[in-house]
Amino acid sequence: MDTRILEGRRIAREIQEEAARQVEELAERGIVPGLAVVLLGDDPASQVYVRNKVRTCRELGMHSEQYALPSETRNDELLSLIDRLNADNNIDGILVQLPLPEHIEEKAVLERISPEKDVDGFHPVNVGRLVTGDYVLAPCTPMGILEMLRREGVALKGAEAVVVGRSNIVGKPMALLLLHQHATVTICHSRTRRLAEVCRRADILVAAMGVAGFVTAGMVKPGAVVIDVGVNRVADPAAKGGSRLVGDVDFAAVQPIAGRITPNPGGVGPMTIALLMHNTVRAAEAATR
Ligand code: NDP
Repeated sequence: MDTRILEGRRIAREIQEEAARQVEELAERGIVPGLAVVLLGDDPASQVYVRNKVRTCRELGMHSEQYALPSETRNDELLSLIDRLNADNNIDGILVQLPLPEHIEEKAVLERISPEKDVDGFHPVNVGRLVTGDYVLAPCTPMGILEMLRREGVALKGAEAVVVGRSNIVGKPMALLLLHQHATVTICHSRTRRLAEVCRRADILVAAMGVAGFVTAGMVKPGAVVIDVGVNRVADPAAKGGSRLVGDVDFAAVQPIAGRITPNPGGVGPMTIALLMHNTVRAAEAATR
């Protein structure tokens, strides 16, 4: 089969160029969208994610602030920082990098962020709006995937979509976004029976479980669109540092069967950052109304 690669990097660049143009338009009205990124602790992967987000913001002409706090930061200290950022007119978006240290009450932190500045779309108000379909800010990874499908002309109306994974960050919002586009959506998880059989029904298969190479050729319908969200570190003595990142899809085995497939890395990851920029611009625009 002639499989088309869904080039997340290229599409993400397009979205960022659009965001940069919107930033220029806002600048003419004296508005500079601002993103505050808060990181607790020194997890190397989180540090890389935060650095990329802050750098992209600056490249697009937006204002960005980075708060790198020690992992021992108390819950109340983090909440008061969020209160300050909620009240700061230079900040339109607040992102608290997950995962948070054990002693921090994640739910209280996410609920403290003003829904209007919740560019991650995790606040219950924004989750509720996503359920009803009346949303402005929705989680960046599933929004990025939807945007990629849209721009690549993938037909969603009436399509069978199977999302493997039911997290609040990826699986559930992905399923809702696809449902709003009139796909027929099935959500799978670790207790799903006959998972391979369910996956084989999919015209669009989204793998978001965090299990390296889980989706194999026998789980994919010929011609299906396969989206690989997973980021898994696996040992590889031949790789720099003795390990490398792989997705949830066995790319080499699935590519010959799929109609379209995301590379990993270079597929969903860049789209996530692009949609964060898009959400920050939308939050800034909404704040001026
Ligand atoms: P979670 O661990 O929160 O959720 C994983 C989901 O997968 C759960 O619903 C779990 O089921 C399900 N699952 C796990 N193992 C199996 C299995 N063997 N069979 C069926 N279902 C299974 O992960 P996230 O949703 O936060 O992230 C998923 C992956 O995506 C991770 O690798 C993460 O690193 C990556 N990611 C990538 C992003 C990007 O920008 N590229 C952004 C966000 C995440 P159950 O609920 O029953 O436990």
